[in-house]
Amino acid sequence: MDAFDDVLTANAAYAEHFHDTGRPGKAARGLAVITCMDSRISPLEMLGLQPGDAKILRNAGARVTDDVLRTLVLAVHLLDVSRVMVVAHTDCRMTKVTDEEVHAEILARGIDTRSLEFRTMRDQRAELVGDVQKIRSSPYLPDDLAVIGCIYDVVTGLIDVAVPPSSS
Ligand SMILES: [Zn+2]
Repeated sequence: MDAFDDVLTANAAYAEHFHDTGRPGKAARGLAVITCMDSRISPLEMLGLQPGDAKILRNAGARVTDDVLRTLVLAVHLLDVSRVMVVAHTDCRMTKVTDEEVHAEILARGIDTRSLEFRTMRDQRAELVGDVQKIRSSPYLPDDLAVIGCIYDVVTGLIDVAVPPSSS
């Protein structure tokens, strides 16, 4: 367990002062945020949220995958989510390489990943528009679900709304 000593020790200290707020597992602010796994992003802090306020879904590139859609269906229908933000970010590694380059880089370490789709992006804004549209057009999600697409600037901390709410 040596590899985890630092975080497990920190958790023991955290639990000593932890107070259960009694909040349910639903999203108190009715929000779901899909963002990148980039460790510079602090989703709750950047949006002024507290634990319990929102559902946070993260993956490489903040992509709307089948698993993200599956999770959103549960979040919307069972956990009080009524608005969704897709938050991509500046300086995302997924915008700087192609899937072929990632396969080659990992193959150089002896692992063939060609059966995986990494969903790298040549045009981040265009992909963001498509990802927002995937949510809006899902037959499993309500028509009045509010969805926006944003790009978070990792240098300034500011969010740019690249795909505004649909006018309908
Ligand atoms: Zn990223």
